Amino acid sequence: MVVEVINTGTELLLGEILNTNFQYLSKALNEKGFDVLYQTTVGDNEQRLCSTIKIALSRADIVVTTGGLGPTRGDITKEIVAAVLERPLELHQPTLDKITRFFTNRGIKMPENNVKQAMIPQGAFVLQNDAGTAPGLVLEAEGKIVVMLPGPPNEMKHVCMEKMLPFLERHFEQQGIIHSKVLRLRGIGESSVAEKLDDIIMSQTNPTIAIYARQGEIIIRITAKGSNFENAEALIAEMETKVKARLKSNIYGADNDSLAVKLGGKLAGTGSTIAFAESCTGGLASSMLTDVPGSSGYLLGSVVSYSNMAKVKVLGVSEESLKDYGAVSEQVACEMAAGVRNLFDTTYGIGITGIAGPGGGSEEKPVGLVYMAIASEKETVCQKYKFAGSRTENKLRSVLAAFSLALDKFKEEI
Ligand code: AMP
Ligand code: MG
Repeated sequence: MVVEVINTGTELLLGEILNTNFQYLSKALNEKGFDVLYQTTVGDNEQRLCSTIKIALSRADIVVTTGGLGPTRGDITKEIVAAVLERPLELHQPTLDKITRFFTNRGIKMPENNVKQAMIPQGAFVLQNDAGTAPGLVLEAEGKIVVMLPGPPNEMKHVCMEKMLPFLERHFEQQGIIHSKVLRLRGIGESSVAEKLDDIIMSQTNPTIAIYARQGEIIIRITAKGSNFENAEALIAEMETKVKARLKSNIYGADNDSLAVKLGGKLAGTGSTIAFAESCTGGLASSMLTDVPGSSGYLLGSVVSYSNMAKVKVLGVSEESLKDYGAVSEQVACEMAAGVRNLFDTTYGIGITGIAGPGGGSEEKPVGLVYMAIASEKETVCQKYKFAGSRTENKLRSVLAAFSLALDKFKEEI
């Protein structure tokens, strides 16, 4: 069943609000086996909404609209759908009663224009909205279905879950379900992943594989369509085994895992402790690790050693190293790591020093250059990175690389 979602609202086109309704709806519909293949955002304009609906009806079996069901003149979705499908609007008494009760219960006189919300296209099926006044509506025409949902996200979610999906499932009987699993990788680039999975990707049908580069990590999404959940899961598991056989050492987690959570788990599980000496990341590594519940058990302390003075006075970095190699150097990163490990007496110390940008770069040391060192009892090792993002992105990339570097210490077990 092909679905097109139409999100209405000029504010969406202006970028004033994020189209969260679409994300929610597409996830909910796909999970139930309805293939969302098109999405259109259109402003509150009669002509454009009209042609958008006609185009959607020409290529989809189910058209789901959001927004424009309110009481004001700007809310035109219902009127336009009714006009396209040539259905006059009629008063729906149960809805009017419900809206009247909604206002009486709040001790407010119902504004006259709310009556508009109780007008429904002839033959429409009402999807009761217990979270607000505008009901959702379903219209069937020539084997196609148009569902209209209210715009406010809480109302949209409520009507979608409680009314629309049950209706569609009943109507089409079980279409099968789509289920997906995400594998998270570190320490490898998108093109290398694609290369290693090339033959699998070329021959994929069900499940399908998609590779995405996210900040600081690569994601492989395996999506299967099955007759039921168990069936889809079994298909995914089979594909996961194939993928793991090729990329095992780079896969650090699945679904909602994060590098911070994974690192926290490894530190806690081995009774290890950690401390950060952060220069260009300004405390972000410590902040992100403390987002993980239980982090007080292994993050003993950190130093935001932004200035040379702090590096020398607090961490014991030598003045000579700063003079000879500069603050952004392998030498200083190593001394920061060893210094902070020493200061807090931890299993691991991590030193991060780099040029986050946009200014401060040079030919020799460009923006995005970051040195990261990890010190343990046995050794101190350093990695050099060259990130190419904005200041904020470079900071985040640095932190994720630091977590990844620390995870390397537990590599055998991953
Ligand atoms: P409407 O029913 O079109 O008047 O929308 C009511 C309110 O819901 C708008 O003012 C927005 O704040 C919100 N809204 C409408 N459409 C969306 C959407 N696609 N995503 C997120 N919020 C929305
Ligand atoms: Mg609107």
